[in-house]
Amino acid sequence: MQGAFSRLHMTDHETTPDLTTPVQYLKGVGPRRAELLERLDVRTVTDLLFFFPRSYQDWSELVPLAELEEGQSASVCGIVQKVELRPTGRGRTMLTVTIADHDQQLSALWFNQPYLKDRFQAGFPVMFSGTFQQRKGRWEITHPQVVHLEDDEDPPVGQILPVYPLTEGVNQFQMRRLVWQVIEDYTAALGETFPVSFLQAHQLLPIHEALRQIHQPADEESLGNARRRFVFQELLVLQLALAIRRWNRTERSRAPALPSSAKIHSRITRLFPFQLTADQEQAIEEISHDMGQEVPMNRLLQGDVGSGKTAVAEYALLQAVAHGWQAVLMAPTEILAIQHARTVTRDLQNSRVRIALLTGSLSAAERTERLAQIAAGEVDLVIGTHAVAQEGVEFARLGLVIIDEQHKFGVQQRAVLKQAGLDPHYLVMTATPIPRTVAMTLFGDLDTSTLRQGPHQQTINTYCEPAEKSEQWWDFYRKKLREGRQGYVISPLVEQSEHRDLVSVEECFEGLTNGELSDFRLGLVHGRLPAREKEKVMQDFAEGKIQVLVATSVVEVGVDVPNATLMTTVGGQQFGLAQLHQLRGRIGRGKHTGYICVFAEPANSEAEKRLEAFVGTTDGFELAEIDFALRGPGELFGFRQHGMPPLHIADLSRDMELLIEARTVAQQMIDTDPGLADPELAKLRHMVLSRYGRSLELGDVG
Ligand code: ADP
Ligand code: MG
Repeated sequence: MQGAFSRLHMTDHETTPDLTTPVQYLKGVGPRRAELLERLDVRTVTDLLFFFPRSYQDWSELVPLAELEEGQSASVCGIVQKVELRPTGRGRTMLTVTIADHDQQLSALWFNQPYLKDRFQAGFPVMFSGTFQQRKGRWEITHPQVVHLEDDEDPPVGQILPVYPLTEGVNQFQMRRLVWQVIEDYTAALGETFPVSFLQAHQLLPIHEALRQIHQPADEESLGNARRRFVFQELLVLQLALAIRRWNRTERSRAPALPSSAKIHSRITRLFPFQLTADQEQAIEEISHDMGQEVPMNRLLQGDVGSGKTAVAEYALLQAVAHGWQAVLMAPTEILAIQHARTVTRDLQNSRVRIALLTGSLSAAERTERLAQIAAGEVDLVIGTHAVAQEGVEFARLGLVIIDEQHKFGVQQRAVLKQAGLDPHYLVMTATPIPRTVAMTLFGDLDTSTLRQGPHQQTINTYCEPAEKSEQWWDFYRKKLREGRQGYVISPLVEQSEHRDLVSVEECFEGLTNGELSDFRLGLVHGRLPAREKEKVMQDFAEGKIQVLVATSVVEVGVDVPNATLMTTVGGQQFGLAQLHQLRGRIGRGKHTGYICVFAEPANSEAEKRLEAFVGTTDGFELAEIDFALRGPGELFGFRQHGMPPLHIADLSRDMELLIEARTVAQQMIDTDPGLADPELAKLRHMVLSRYGRSLELGDVG
């Protein structure tokens, strides 16, 4: 009621500001600057209201220069005395800005940011903030935060100032002015997203107050509260979308029930040349249970490289086939598809299960024939690459789809294999351990099974060396080859490139054939090779005809040759942590200890930390968390890459608690009101649909 009244009141008001006003019409903007702002996705007044600061400058502790203490984190004020830019060799520069406060001096240093020079002018007051150090009796600070004080302006002592993302032609000062003006003039017109009772129940700051505090925080606490409100809102909208999707699946779509039974169980497990591990048993139980339901399974099987996901997949495939339904296993590369086909064919040699391989390199005639067989139900198991999910592939009775290395495909591809009538069950597998927060967002509607303990507790010794230390390593490598082991040499590039320090995989192959490994049988494989050639080389390597496989990271996923225990990686700084870990997973898959040496010249401290972490642990889950912390979720699990709009304010590496809360709240809301039909939630419902309706295929909710 209250909401309705205030709305009436608003519309009666003749001067209600229009939130859709283009920024161009704001004081001090105009068409030219509006164009610049558009690059920041700022078009309207509303965009500006929700243009959240990237960070903040805390000017709460202003200290006179004379009273500074070593290592103190504070702000100081002074008049610019000298601005000096000098080269330090190899195109690098150092900018020194010296300021004075009474008879004290302080130098601020910037490395390799020569363009900052023009922002300082002798005689003008500035404020620096950061951690101060004394060097040779003088105060110094490196890369401080800066406020240029206008002549008539008081220093922002005691304030927390927003720092906005900028674009050429709009500086921080102008951006602040602009946002603050818009807050003054327009906030009142903005409606609340949540009902009052909801705000109270979840201790959320009302939107007007939150907006003010996020742009002009009174203090740390208010800023924290404001941020909490927007982060919660953003995560709630996402979790609502995921909950709706889950609801659609569980309440609306139907799959064939394909339960396991004692008989099926013993018939399948008899095929494996080994005893299943406890984790495999557990995962199989979870999957079997799901497949026995009429609600389509939507499960993620995650397990580190070598943890034995393939056997679990094989079990599920055969469980579907046992009921007379077809099943699909999709792999990200042709090599992997071929290898899966080989494993399954070997395990099923005495059965009547009919298997077809479907990859991009089939001839047109072969393809036509296989498609006809699949459509006629003459094939039980289809193993292939994304060629399986293409137009024109029709199944007679598709009961299960398994996607290996899910993260290589992205969310979108999952839906392609839908058929008329019943939906198939879905199982996706990944060897890139997914940090918990990401599992709850990007993979938010997947149930998860995990293989933690692999069948082979094989030690892998990891070394990281600069290239010039290679002598010793090759001695060792040759010794192991003579003992009968096999090895990989991984090079990041297919072709020669302008990267002067890197050798292409062909050069690497040539070099080794004529040099360090001239006594051994070498093979070369990379992505550009025709499929049949690739297959031949891989086959020869698997059979031991080739002792050393020189390759690009095409062997990164899944390739399984247990006798290969050696790996050399050149140009290791080129690889991401997850990729290195995947590569390492190729060795130590049999009964012998694995050895990997990464030759790398890390170019920066992040690359260094990555390599350090890699040497430090072989636990993929731990590495995933480290990678996550080093690079943030954006790069590791790009939302865009998964077809999802990016998060604006939530930070998955620090907002775990709010994420869990949002998820619980969203689930409760959808349980009681799946279509968000409550008029009080209309605004929220609109946000969910406009943000995720398309990417998550929410359809006509409610
Ligand atoms: P990934 O999880 O990386 O896909 P795989 O399924 O390729 O791992 O399994 C790695 C290796 O371990 C393979 O050689 C496979 O045959 C073997 N393996 C799988 N499960 C078991 C088990 N329970 N006991 C012994 N070896 C197993
Ligand atoms: Mg695998």
